[in-house]
Amino acid sequence: MLRLDLSSFSFNLYFEYVAVFILIIMLIYMFVEKLFIMKRSKILLFLISLLVICTSLDIFGAHTVNRIIEGTSNPELFKVVNILETTYIMLLFISVHFYVTYIVHISCGFRYLRRKKLELILFYLPLAIGLPLIITNYFYPLILNYGYDTAPYFELNIFALISVHGIEIIYVVVSILLIYLYRVMFEKKQRIAASLIPVILVAGIVIEMVMPKYLVIQLMFALCIIIIQTTFESSEDMIDGMTNLYNLSEFVRQLNKYFLNGDKKAILLFKMTNFSELRKTYDYVEVYKYCSLVTGKINEFRSNNGLVFTTYSLNNGYYAFVFNRVDLFDVEVSNNLIKAIYMIPACNDYYPTVERCLIEIPNDFNSVNEVTKFVNNYRQAISFKNDFTKYSDVSNDHNLIISNNLDQIIDTALKEKEFKVYYQPIYSVEKKRFISAEALVRLVSHKYGFISPGSFIPFAEKTGRIEEIDLTVIEEVFKFVSSTVFKMLGLSYIELNLSMAEIINPIFIKRVRELMLKYNVNPDNINMEITESFESSELGIINDNLRKLTDMGFKLSLDDYGTGYSNINRFVSLPISIVKIDKSLVDESENEGIKKILDYSFTLVRSLNKETVVEGIETEEQLNRFIEFGADFIQGYYFSKPLDFDKIVEFLYKNNM
Ligand code: C2E
Ligand code: MG
Ligand code: MG
Repeated sequence: MLRLDLSSFSFNLYFEYVAVFILIIMLIYMFVEKLFIMKRSKILLFLISLLVICTSLDIFGAHTVNRIIEGTSNPELFKVVNILETTYIMLLFISVHFYVTYIVHISCGFRYLRRKKLELILFYLPLAIGLPLIITNYFYPLILNYGYDTAPYFELNIFALISVHGIEIIYVVVSILLIYLYRVMFEKKQRIAASLIPVILVAGIVIEMVMPKYLVIQLMFALCIIIIQTTFESSEDMIDGMTNLYNLSEFVRQLNKYFLNGDKKAILLFKMTNFSELRKTYDYVEVYKYCSLVTGKINEFRSNNGLVFTTYSLNNGYYAFVFNRVDLFDVEVSNNLIKAIYMIPACNDYYPTVERCLIEIPNDFNSVNEVTKFVNNYRQAISFKNDFTKYSDVSNDHNLIISNNLDQIIDTALKEKEFKVYYQPIYSVEKKRFISAEALVRLVSHKYGFISPGSFIPFAEKTGRIEEIDLTVIEEVFKFVSSTVFKMLGLSYIELNLSMAEIINPIFIKRVRELMLKYNVNPDNINMEITESFESSELGIINDNLRKLTDMGFKLSLDDYGTGYSNINRFVSLPISIVKIDKSLVDESENEGIKKILDYSFTLVRSLNKETVVEGIETEEQLNRFIEFGADFIQGYYFSKPLDFDKIVEFLYKNNM
């Protein structure tokens, strides 16, 4: 035992006051924000409470020691101090154990640990060794002892103390290891935080061992709690605000865990396919209320049926139900679930149409990536025969295989120049000949065959590959319009399709300018088609970039008028010269209501001094109807499908000369 004379000693308590203050603020914050619904947050809550108690005990103990040394308290009280300090060390030790428990929960999960005998033993072993060691100190001065003979003294068994702290450090190292093993589940800031925490804790332990006067461990712990609270527990990172359910990122995080652990799960993907109608018909508050009620019904359904599943809200009206036991799930359960959410006392005109797909992991998929791709694309990929599909029944579907491999297909296509530009002629009603053509990209993959732009364009827009694709199309078209062949075909311009995803990017605009200069393009020969599918928050930058394009001399068209993407108020403010009426309006142009809309639209566009192209004209009857409406230009299979370069040249030679 190392014996220290305490005659001229005094503990500095300020660090601990600050620690208690911080911890209590954290507790209040968690209660006010109701951040204790999840198991993991409950552990954190428990950990903080434990720290408050043990810090208070330490303050009380150290304060008493100070007073005894000053001579204002009875040295007999050292007996109480010894009990307080032993309890403090014990609670601190247990806190470190709970810190690791928390890390287990956010990494591999406790369920996994419970399945593994050895790991479970290793998890509790330090506790089993350390606790008896500390408890002995109540009866026999094994670790520390305050006492008084001629002067106050403090006895410390360095070896025992190092053992206790050593075990704590082992725990902390285990926590680092866990974060490392499950690193895919964490964002960068969380990984940084997780490696910072052990450093702070160990620093605290070392400082206090070297300078026992300064009680800093608790403050260090409190700092770590702040770090945890802000990086791991910030609810907006894992909770969907609309439904109050776990969100997509949390879903992906859990998927990573399942794959690492080899957990078996059945996941029901549940999509309200007409959710966008709800968003259009009702205002935000009502939709919010609707979503909360659905969440309530789901929870009610779960407890009424004694089922164990976790619900995730992946997107608007798109849910995932994760069942722990694959055998517990069947169509019956799924049907009852639909019944449960069908009657909701909000948004009364809305009845969800639901599509469901059951997937099983790890049976159906090899990686998280495969699952998320499927989750994102499954509706586009498969046409459902009925509203309940099992993944295993459709996994050989050609379209599904394509949609699962689009990333790599696009990669190869860019490398091997598999993207081809086709041209669909556009007829001028006034000039009675073809005055332009729309460039449409085509992909024939050597491995999968023809792939429709309808499936790879939206994917490329989401994944940021669209710019590369469009730049190859643009380069091809620029070469064409600056060639001598173009001048002989009688065309005024070529229409190019641009996506909003790229118009937002100033670098893309710069590239277009570079290509324009490189091929010495006359901008009068180019018209760029845009659609209006963007967030109003981006309106500023989009208008700026569109302005840049018009300043270069390019004309703009508004594509897909009438599909819900374009709304009239907005297109008035955009610098466009042509409006393209979508095929869907053509298809329904016999309908009296649609006729009225068309009549109104043509009048409006004319009054704004803009021209019209009608897309998707297939019959003579449609052609005459739209000529009567006053359409300026016509495009559609009636005249020609999109043709490859040689064929369009041939077509125009034949029809324009
Ligand atoms: P869009 O710009 O509205 O193009 C018109 C689509 O309607 C084309 O489909 C065209 O082949 C088709 N179409 C034209 N006339 C008829 C008709 O009479 N009947 C029928 N049934 N269809 C007709 P496509 O080529 O499959 O392209 C689909 C969409 O993909 C395009 O819609 C456009 O939004 C996008 N897209 C195509 N090429 C590109 C491109 O190079 N870049 C970008 N960003 N998007 C592109
Ligand atoms: Mg177009
Ligand atoms: Mg269109």
